[in-house]
Parts: sequence; C-alpha cells; structure tokens
Amino acid sequence: MTKMTVGFIGLGIMGRPMALNLHKAGHALFVHGRRPESMAPLAHAGCTACASAAEAAAQADVTIIMVSDTADVEQVIFGAGGVTHGAKLGSVVVDMSTISPTATRHFAKELSARGIEMLDAPVSGGDVGAINATLSIMVGGKPAVFERVQPLFAAMGKNIVHIGDNGAGQVAKACNQIVVAVTIEAVAEALTFARKSGVDAAKVRDALLGGFAASRILEVHGKRMLDNNYQPGFKTKLHQKDMNIVLQTAKDLGLALPAAALVMQHMNALMGIGDGELDSAAVMKIIEHMSGVER
Ligand code: NAP
Repeated sequence: MTKMTVGFIGLGIMGRPMALNLHKAGHALFVHGRRPESMAPLAHAGCTACASAAEAAAQADVTIIMVSDTADVEQVIFGAGGVTHGAKLGSVVVDMSTISPTATRHFAKELSARGIEMLDAPVSGGDVGAINATLSIMVGGKPAVFERVQPLFAAMGKNIVHIGDNGAGQVAKACNQIVVAVTIEAVAEALTFARKSGVDAAKVRDALLGGFAASRILEVHGKRMLDNNYQPGFKTKLHQKDMNIVLQTAKDLGLALPAAALVMQHMNALMGIGDGELDSAAVMKIIEHMSGVER
C-alpha cells in the first residue's frame, strides 16, 4: 500500500484517534494541535509534533483538518501560521470537520487558485467509530483527488462514499445530522412516554430494538438516556452548530425543515441551562423537564 506523508491539524475527541489510526497504518504523521497537551499522546506514539499548521502542511502530501466549526477551518487554512503558508503546490487539503457546504465551496475555490486541491470529507460514527477506524466518510471533490486520498480514508473508516463535487460531502453530513437529531428527539420522547406510563423504559428499548423502530440512535443514545449518562460522545454545542448549518442552508434554499427546527430549540434550551458540553442525547433532560419527569 502507498505510504504517505500526512499533516493532521486538530487533535480533539475525533482527531486524536483518527491521526493515531493513520500512524498505525504506516503513514508518516506531522501533527499540530493548538495546545501542546493535545499533541503529547501522538508524539509519544511516534508522530512528529509541529508548532503550526503551516509547519505540518509543509511536510505533507495530504493535510487533514479536524477542528470545530467553519470559522476554525478558515483560520487553520488561511490564517496566520495556517496551511496555505506551508502547503506544497499540488498537495491536498482534506477537511473532515463538519462545516458549512457554502463556505466549503468557497475554500476549495480559493485553494485551487493557489494550486492546492481540496476535499471535504466529514464523518459519522462518533468517537467509537474514530477509535475503531469504522467511520462513515462522505466525500466532496474531484474523483481523481478522491482516489489519491483513498488509502488514508481506508485507514480511518469503513463506509467511504464519494458523493459529488466540493461541498457535496458537507451536504451529505447535514442530511446525516437531520436524521440523527430528529431520531434523538423521537427516542427521548418514546422513553419518557414509557416512564410516565409507569412502564420500564429499559424493557421498552429492548423490545423496540428488534423491530422497525430499531436504530443506532435507539441503541447508543437510548442507553445514554436510560443511564442518565451524557458524557460525550458528541457535544451538544457541536450538534447545535451542525443544526445551525442545516437550518441556515435550508433558509438559503427556501426549504422548510420543521422537525429539525424543533430539535434545534431543544438544543438551544440545553445550551441555555449550561449543558453544552454534554452529549446531545441530553435532549432527554429537556423532554423530561417539560413534563415534570423526575429521576
Ligand atoms: P473537539 O473534541 O472539541 O475537538 C476539536 C479540536 O479542534 C480541539 O482539539 C480544538 O483545539 C481544535 N480547534 C478548534 N478550533 C481551532 C482553531 N481555530 N485552531 C486550531 N485548532 C482548533 O471536537 P470533536 O468532537 O473532535 O469534533 C471535531 C469535528 O468533528 C467537529 O466539526 C464535529 O462536528 C465533527 N464530528 C464530531 C463527532 C463526534 O462524535 N465527536 C462525530 C462526527 C463529526 P483545543 O483542544 O485547543 O480546543
């Protein structure tokens, strides 16, 4: 298999295990995180820690970005010490963060004007998928560039789909987030319905997992709700960020998404009570609170 030199920027819940899996697959990793502590475990594993995104990109055939939001990706690519200050002509920037499809198309155009290719490649599968290299990866960009980067995707994920042009990966991810958010709401409502009816919600979940209502959300997030354990996982503040991308894009398209808008309100409420760091399965707390369900 082709071994590549890879820059990796953003070493949080997702980025750290993804970078580690690339390293384990034999690629040469040049990593950058804005806090030295986030680079330490990777340096310990044998990756090279870099003082800036530019320094990491200067070594790399492919520079992967896994940070929080649209403005962060813009800063990492174009800001002071950013990727464009180091990246080689003809190299590829792969943004795996979840950000705006519109901004992504703009970034790709700007990079292309500087002789740098770009793919958007957001992921689904959570921290568990990142650790086990089983992420679903949704890719936008030129097919030939996708082929070049495919060995890296294969080291991080299982279901890797080239969706279309630049931005198409982010559109697919927004679709993913609509389904996840609305299903979290449905699972929270169903388990609260069971509890308020005096029925064992854990047994209801067991029964539902064998029928048409079964889903990964009922399995994973439903368990978090039953256990009242909202350690992330996927932070509410990030899920709220994604629903904002969904609803802003829907507005631009003249598109009504009533169920997505409703869940956004519940995420806003979670943020309002200071629970933005909790897993977004904590939407359950809002549903319970609205109907006076005590634990
Ligand atoms: P996280 O744990 O908060 O990590 C984000 C990382 O990005 C942090 O290490 C942060 O640095 C770094 N960062 C943020 N802004 C930066 C900037 N302007 N310059 C340099 N570094 C910056 O978040 P995560 O869960 O890994 O999520 C990363 C992305 O993946 C997000 O777009 C998220 O929506 C997406 N995603 C997450 C999941 C999940 O289950 N967690 C699943 C699919 C997709 P500091 O440590 O210094 O703050």
